[in-house]
Amino acid sequence: MSQDSFIPQKIVPVLVPMPAERPYSYAVPDGMEVKAGSIVRVPLGPREVAGIVTEGSTDSIDAKKLRPISELFDCPPVDDGMMRFMRWAADYTISPPGMVARMVLRVPAAFDPEPPVPGLRFSGREPDRMTGARARVLELAEDGMAWTRTGLAHAAGVSATVIDGLSAQGVFEQVMIPARPIVAAPDVDYAKAALSEDQAVAAAQLAEAVSADGFSVSLLDGVTGSGKTEVYFEAVAKAIEKGRQVLILLPEIALTQQFLDRFHDRFGSKPAEWHSDLAPRTRERVWRQVMEGQVRVVAGARSALFLPFQDLGLIVVDEEHDPAYKQEDRVFYNARDMAVVRGHIGNFPVVLASATPSIESQVNANQGRYTRIRLTGRYAEAAMPDLKSIDMRRSPPRPGGFLSPALVEAINQTLQRQEQSLLFLNRRGYAPLTLCRVCGHRFQCPDCSSWLVEHRFRGQLVCHQCGHHEARPEACPSCGTLDHLVACGPGVERIAEEVEKTFPDARIIVLSSDLMGVKRLRLELDAIARGEADIIIGTQLVAKGHNFPNMTLVGVVDADLGLANGDPRAAERTFQLLSQVTGRAGRTGKKSLGLLQTYQPDHPVMRAIVSGDAQAFYEREIEERERSGLPPFGRLGSLIISAATRLEAENHARALRRAAPTSPQISVLGPAEAPLALVRGRHRFRLLIHGTRKADIQGFIRATLAAGPKERGSVRVQVDIDPQSFL
Ligand code: ADP
Ligand code: ZN
Repeated sequence: MSQDSFIPQKIVPVLVPMPAERPYSYAVPDGMEVKAGSIVRVPLGPREVAGIVTEGSTDSIDAKKLRPISELFDCPPVDDGMMRFMRWAADYTISPPGMVARMVLRVPAAFDPEPPVPGLRFSGREPDRMTGARARVLELAEDGMAWTRTGLAHAAGVSATVIDGLSAQGVFEQVMIPARPIVAAPDVDYAKAALSEDQAVAAAQLAEAVSADGFSVSLLDGVTGSGKTEVYFEAVAKAIEKGRQVLILLPEIALTQQFLDRFHDRFGSKPAEWHSDLAPRTRERVWRQVMEGQVRVVAGARSALFLPFQDLGLIVVDEEHDPAYKQEDRVFYNARDMAVVRGHIGNFPVVLASATPSIESQVNANQGRYTRIRLTGRYAEAAMPDLKSIDMRRSPPRPGGFLSPALVEAINQTLQRQEQSLLFLNRRGYAPLTLCRVCGHRFQCPDCSSWLVEHRFRGQLVCHQCGHHEARPEACPSCGTLDHLVACGPGVERIAEEVEKTFPDARIIVLSSDLMGVKRLRLELDAIARGEADIIIGTQLVAKGHNFPNMTLVGVVDADLGLANGDPRAAERTFQLLSQVTGRAGRTGKKSLGLLQTYQPDHPVMRAIVSGDAQAFYEREIEERERSGLPPFGRLGSLIISAATRLEAENHARALRRAAPTSPQISVLGPAEAPLALVRGRHRFRLLIHGTRKADIQGFIRATLAAGPKERGSVRVQVDIDPQSFL
C-alpha cells in the first residue's frame, strides 16, 4: 500500500450475529457517528445483517477488503452495562461473542422507530347536521385530542362510518400520532397490599436493598402460598419509584396469566410480557419500548435478560431453582446465575425467590454472600397440606391400573366435598414404551436412542427428543404378529383413562403441552381456577405458579420418577418438584391433602416431603455435595461431542481428551457415550470436566479446544459450563 493514496478511514469492530471468534471490522462512512453500542446494518457476504458496534482494537486490515457500514439505525445505543454483560456472558459460557449479540438482536424490525399511526383531530368545523351518534363523537373529540379512527368510534360507541361521514365534511383533520405504549405506566400507589406482619418485615428488607443502591442478592425463601409475590412487589414498587426499570423472570410466563393479573391489581397496569409465544410484532414493540425506556417493568422468560434495558435497577428471579432457567441451545447459560452477574455489573439489587431454593443459593445464603429473607407460614388462614406417602408395595393398584386404592378413595372423598383433585405425572402421552408381546420388539426412534411414546389421542408413536412420529401399527413390524402390541407404563393420557373408568361422572381435564396450544392451556387453567373441573391430570406445567382455590387434593402418581437417573441433582430436583406440586393444594384455608405414590417411602426425599423437614434434607444434600466436591463446592463443565457417525464422535472426543492440559485442580472424566447416545441422527459423546471451587474451568476448556483437533466434517463440540443436564 503506498503511503500517499491511502487515507485511513475510521474503522470500528462490529459484533455480527455469527459464531465468529472476533468482531468484524467495518469502515465508518463520512458523516456517520457511531459509538460502542450503536446498532448498525452491515454487509456480510452476500447479505446484510444487524450488528452492534463494539469497543477494542480492530484486526489488521486490508483496506481494500474493508466494507463500510450501510446504515446506523435510528435507535438508542445498547447501554454500557449491557455491553459489559454481553462480553462477560460470552467469556463465561465460552461462546462466540457474536452469538450472544444474536440473542440481543433477534427483533430485526425493532431497530427503526415505530412509525406513527394516522389519526384524526377535531378541526373546529361543525357538521352540517347533528345526530345523536355525531354528538357523542364530538363530545369526545372537542378537546382537540388526537384519536385513531377506530379508537374514537369504539369510545363513542358508534360505527366507523359515522367517523368517516364527519371526516368527509372536514370536521376532522388528519394527523399522525405516536405509536401507543404497549403497556401503561405502573402506578406504585394504585393498590398497596395489606401485608401480614411477617410479610411486612420481609418487604421492608427488600425495599431497603433497593433503596440502598448498589449490588446485593436477597434470597426470599418462603413456603408455597406465603405471599412471596406480594412481598417482592414492594421491592418492584421501590425501584419504579426511583425511576429504574425492573425485570421479573418467571419460568413459565406464557402460562402465568394469573401473575399478570396480580401485577395489575397492585400497580394498575400489566407489565410488558416477553416470551417466545408473543406475536412477532408485539415482540418488536416490547423490545423497542424497553430500549427507549417507555416500558418500566418486564415479566419475561430467561431470554428477557438480553433485552436492551436502558436503566435496569432490579431483577427478580421467581422460582429461582427452576430448571427452565437453563438454556441448552447454542449459548448454554443459566438465567438465574446470569441475573446475578447482570446485577453485579449494573450495580443494582437482585432478588431470588423460591419455596425450595437451589442448593447453590442455599449455600450462598449460608455463607453470607446472599441475604436470606424468610417467610415461614402460609398467608392468612391457609394451612399447608397434610402430606403422606402411599407405599405402593403394600397398597398396589389393581392389575392394569396405576392408582392405589388409597388414592382412589381420597379422590372419591374430595369429589363428595365438591372440591378439586390434581393428579400429577410428569410424562406426556399414553405410555412411554410399546412392545410386542410375542417377539419382544420395542418401538424406538430411528434417529434417537429413545423409545417412542404412544400418544393415543393422536393415534401416534412419538419421539420426545426429536418429534419423529409414526402411526401405531396393528402388527409388529418385526415378527408380523397382529394385535399383540402392549403399552408399558403410564403417561397422563393413560391415567385419564383410568380416572374416567373409575369416576364416570366427574369432570376431567388433562393438561399437557402436546394436547393444546398456549391459548387453550390458558383457558383451561382459568376454567380450573373457576372450579369448572373436578379432577385435573397434568404434567409439570400445572405445578408452576397457579392458584386453584378449590383444589384440596394433590396425588403424585409416580413420586419416584425423577430419582432413577444418574443426575447428581436428582434428589434435589425431585424434592423441589414434589414440594411445588403438592403446594398447589389448600391455598384458601380448606383442609387439604397431598399423597405421594412411591415404592421407596424411606427415601430421604419422601421423608423430607412427608415430615415437612426441608432443613434436614438440605443439610444432608449440602453435606453430600461438599463431600463429593460437586457444585457449589466444586465446578463442572461438559463438552458434548456429536457427529454423523459414532466413530467420528468418539475419535474426536478421545483426541480432545488427549489434548487436555494437566492441572492439579481439574480432572477430566470420559469420554463416555452420552446416556442419550443418539439425538436427531447425531451420535454423542461427553467429557466431564470437574474442578475445585477455585479452578479455572473456562481456561482449561479453552486450552483443550485450542490444542485439540478443530471441528471438521460433521463433528460439533458444544460447551456447557455448570451443566444441569448430563444426558
Ligand atoms: P407464593 O408466591 O409464596 O407461593 P403468593 O404470593 O402466590 O405465594 O400468595 C399466595 C396467595 O395468598 C395468593 O392468592 C395471594 O394473592 C394471597 N396473598 C398473599 N399475601 C397477601 C396479602 N398480604 N394480602 C392479600 N392476599 C395475599
Ligand atoms: Zn427421535
